[in-house]
Amino acid sequence: MGFAAVTLKWFGVISADSVAIATIGLRPALLAVLGLIVGYLGFHALMRGWVARRRRATLRLAMATIASDIVLLFLLVFLITPPEHYERVLLVCVFTVQVTQMFFGWTATIANLVLVAVGYTMLIAFAADAGRMPYPGEELWTLALYAIGVTAYAALQGHLTKRMRNLVRVFAKAQEGDFSAQYDEAADQMPDPVTIIGRAYNRMRAHLEAIVLTDPLSGCFNRRGLNQLAEREVSRAIRGKKHVAVLAIDVDHFKHINDEYGHLTGDEVIREVGALLRETAREVDVVARIGGEEFTILAPDSNDEGALILAERVMQAFRSHRFHSLPPERRITTSVGVAAAPARDDEVAKTLLARADEALYVAKRSGRDRAVVWHAGMRAFDAGSPGRARHSTPAMIRTVDTPHE
Ligand code: GH3
Ligand code: MG
Ligand code: MG
Repeated sequence: MGFAAVTLKWFGVISADSVAIATIGLRPALLAVLGLIVGYLGFHALMRGWVARRRRATLRLAMATIASDIVLLFLLVFLITPPEHYERVLLVCVFTVQVTQMFFGWTATIANLVLVAVGYTMLIAFAADAGRMPYPGEELWTLALYAIGVTAYAALQGHLTKRMRNLVRVFAKAQEGDFSAQYDEAADQMPDPVTIIGRAYNRMRAHLEAIVLTDPLSGCFNRRGLNQLAEREVSRAIRGKKHVAVLAIDVDHFKHINDEYGHLTGDEVIREVGALLRETAREVDVVARIGGEEFTILAPDSNDEGALILAERVMQAFRSHRFHSLPPERRITTSVGVAAAPARDDEVAKTLLARADEALYVAKRSGRDRAVVWHAGMRAFDAGSPGRARHSTPAMIRTVDTPHE
């Protein structure tokens, strides 16, 4: 803009003289403009070098750069523009307000406004002093209108930026597989493009959640879904000082199903197992498929007794279920490891998953088609000794000495 102004002035396209030209003459004023531009470019080259060396730009540096832009603008106007056209500088300043608000926030925007107000008032003062501005009050009113206009504009821009940040936060959560947050459409009185994007996301949310958190074969939650819901349920249980239980479920001799009827039938059976488990569990239970034919049920508000009842219900459901993908007489059994504890900290789900797995292992080792409740010292008990199993009821080993409760 500076070079263009010098060229226009040099060729006489801009005819009226600025206050500076009238005072010091055309040639010195234009030389001052060129010097100013060279100085400005030099300053920016230095800044660029500094940023490249340190690989970061501080807020202070950014503000210094914006300030240098504004100072340059006002000096150019003083050197070239006749006082009748001072408003032009305010047009360019609108752009600097937009950039400042968008990238540096309110403090920098207010600093920008103050700098422009001081610069413009000085221009008016010099022009009035040189007798070139008979009615400076008009110019001050222009400045006031500018200030009101750009403040309203910056406020709108700030509001928009804030809402876009909200949207980005919702997207960032979704990126981590957490679809609990949604864009607050109701807060937008006047729907605009941000509202439209937020609304589209909200519509997509349920669909995305199903894709990311569900296992497509069984229709149950996958491991990610289990982890996420476990987190939610555990914090709820901690707040309510409740128990949480975990059931580790593994179909017995599933390899035989694959061997006898083929892998595709095996897949069908897994699909049916998922449906059967969801039907058998309570509404509040989280049913997840965490491996080939391994499932987990997270049962909120359940202690050992409650979890064992659920485990028994699951085993019973398997025993009596007629799998559509298998011959009518073919039955399937399942083994269940059970672990429950009062929810005291965030680690409880992880601990219970590991314990339920240990208990499941014992259930398998002691004959399958049974549920085993985890108890301390279980590893030692399991070390190959079937003694406890022989003393238990045929379908179920019941151990309740959980010292953590
Ligand atoms: P156990 O009673 O000890 O659990 O015996 P199992 O035969 O069920 O053995 P295990 O649980 O160790 O292995 C499960 C088998 O399930 C291994 C694999 O052949 C099969 N499998 C795993 N994932 C899938 C799947 O997605 N589809 C099918 N059709 N089979 C699977
Ligand atoms: Mg199995
Ligand atoms: Mg298995």
